[in-house]
Amino acid sequence: MRLDQNQLNELNEEYSNKSPEDVLKWTLDNLHPNVALASSFGAEDAVLIDMLAKINPEARIFTLDTGRLNQETYDVMDEVKLKYKVNLEVMFPNQVEVQDMVRKHGMNLFYRSQENRKLCCGIRKVHPLTSMLSTLDGWITGIRGDQTQNRSDANKFEIDHQFGGILKANPIIDWIWDQLWDYIKTNNVPYNKLHDVGYPSIGCEPCTRAIKPGEDLRAGRWWWENESDKECGLHMDHSQESANLK
Ligand code: SF4
Repeated sequence: MRLDQNQLNELNEEYSNKSPEDVLKWTLDNLHPNVALASSFGAEDAVLIDMLAKINPEARIFTLDTGRLNQETYDVMDEVKLKYKVNLEVMFPNQVEVQDMVRKHGMNLFYRSQENRKLCCGIRKVHPLTSMLSTLDGWITGIRGDQTQNRSDANKFEIDHQFGGILKANPIIDWIWDQLWDYIKTNNVPYNKLHDVGYPSIGCEPCTRAIKPGEDLRAGRWWWENESDKECGLHMDHSQESANLK
């Protein structure tokens, strides 16, 4: 199923005041089994996994194991598998690409330049994601508008031009941090314990740190870089997307 821009606008209009569960129901009704949640096991994904499991326990969930994740992230993956009995589809990077990269640039290349960091994110995240998305008609993400300037322009439903024009559903795009935690506590949702020690955003272990009070929610990601709108390449620049659509 592919939507044109007019259909997408109508859908966003219709769902502008609807709940994340309604967005998920529409997405599953129209695209399952050719749609999956991309989970990095942060608080946003914990909420969406719980909602999906309640709507349809067969809903598909995949994750990218970059090979550089925190133990806490692997712990919550197993907790989720056990609690919801989901078939977690774990995607790994191409072994030869990783091998060539570390032989040429070293294990911790990302600290030396942004070019190296993007190379590593490309090989460990973007390539496996692209491979998974090439098999789907849509994907579900946990992005929220207050995470970055780029994400503040996103809608509940989008056409993902970065990944072949498939549908991208962002059910909690308008949720704030406190709503996530109300849901997690009320529904006893398993969550990544890094959140208890100051990590609002979960990424790879060497590239993510806890933030200090008052810091931006994504300040702990690639903290040695100065840019404010830091992304790993999984979520395209929406200003660029708008420009492309004009
Ligand atoms: S976040 Fe860091 S370790 Fe993970 S893929 Fe990107 S550069 Fe590599």
